[in-house]
Amino acid sequence: MLLTLPDEVRQLLRLVQHHVFMIYRDEEECYFLFSEGMIAEQYNIPTRFVRNRTLTEIFTKHTYSVLYPNIVKAFNGISTQFEMMYRERTMLVSLEPIIRGKKIEEIMGSAFDITVQKEAQKELSAALDKERQLNALKSQFVYTVSHEFRTPLTGISMSAELLQHYMGRMDEHTKRRTLESILNRTNELTNLIEDLLTQSSAQSLTTMFNPEIIHPVMACQTIINDIAETFHPLSHVIEFSYEESLPVVHWDIRLMRHIIRNILTNAMKYSPTGTTILIRLYYVQGVIYVSIQDRGVGIADKDLPHIFTPFFRSNRTETVKGTGLGLSIVKEFVELHGGTIHAESQENQGTTFILAFPEL
Ligand code: ADP
Repeated sequence: MLLTLPDEVRQLLRLVQHHVFMIYRDEEECYFLFSEGMIAEQYNIPTRFVRNRTLTEIFTKHTYSVLYPNIVKAFNGISTQFEMMYRERTMLVSLEPIIRGKKIEEIMGSAFDITVQKEAQKELSAALDKERQLNALKSQFVYTVSHEFRTPLTGISMSAELLQHYMGRMDEHTKRRTLESILNRTNELTNLIEDLLTQSSAQSLTTMFNPEIIHPVMACQTIINDIAETFHPLSHVIEFSYEESLPVVHWDIRLMRHIIRNILTNAMKYSPTGTTILIRLYYVQGVIYVSIQDRGVGIADKDLPHIFTPFFRSNRTETVKGTGLGLSIVKEFVELHGGTIHAESQENQGTTFILAFPEL
């Protein structure tokens, strides 16, 4: 005997925000007995349209394929709750068997639109993920910083102790060497602090981004001259070649100086003394390229995708000092110019960094 709902009850159910429905089974087919609530109205499936119609008639194949196994479960006497997509909304559906005697002929169902909650949940978990990543980055940062600071500090303190205890017995040459070692280590610390400061101020530099129209050859030449002066005498040969008649560029010279200086010092750090580093400026189809090529240790294929990640350092270059921060900042600065950066490398052959900037 199928249940019939008095009109007043149906009227009241219509006021429910969600979807309240009842399904009955005849032979192998399932039919709606009633279907009420705001959602039923919204999706055009109220009782007046769906009563005594089979579910296969009403729902698409896909929707039915999600509903069907759960309906079977409910007709087998098991309450079920599941989420499903319906017309691009996420619904939480509950199905309850109605047990009369030993038979289950009907099931009672409800559906709630939980799209908003789902989206909030997704946003929350994305924020949590970001927070987790940030925390991991912070721990790595603290670890790297303390490790990188400790080594030169230990060196300085050892050299200073040597001087303190043995100054009287040291010849001039040893004294000078010990002092030089202290100075070198101090320089290392200064560089490290500079790297860290640049990293933390990268954000503010970004807001101060101040590009101007300049000629790329002039800009690069000035930057290279600056670098050659700072590192005098140069441990490597720097060759600069460029195409005549290059278009002007829209560069922030401070940031470009940082970019080229960083890639160039890497090239010097990771290639044998005396080898040549080639800087080329060229233009192809609306793009101005700057490439910096060294003949150094190269980067392993497995490491290449990670070199722009903060703190990444290849184990091939562990013996050389560094923080793993330089290239991540470089990438940020290049992208600020609307440019891209990538590296091509072969182990023991060398590495080429290629920067591409769109024409004005
Ligand atoms: P750092 O040089 O301080 O370690 P970077 O962010 O500048 O940090 O570089 C990340 C890593 O990429 C380096 O540790 C090194 O392993 C690799 N790398 C960068 N430039 C070169 C290069 N020219 N040749 C070989 N390896 C390089």
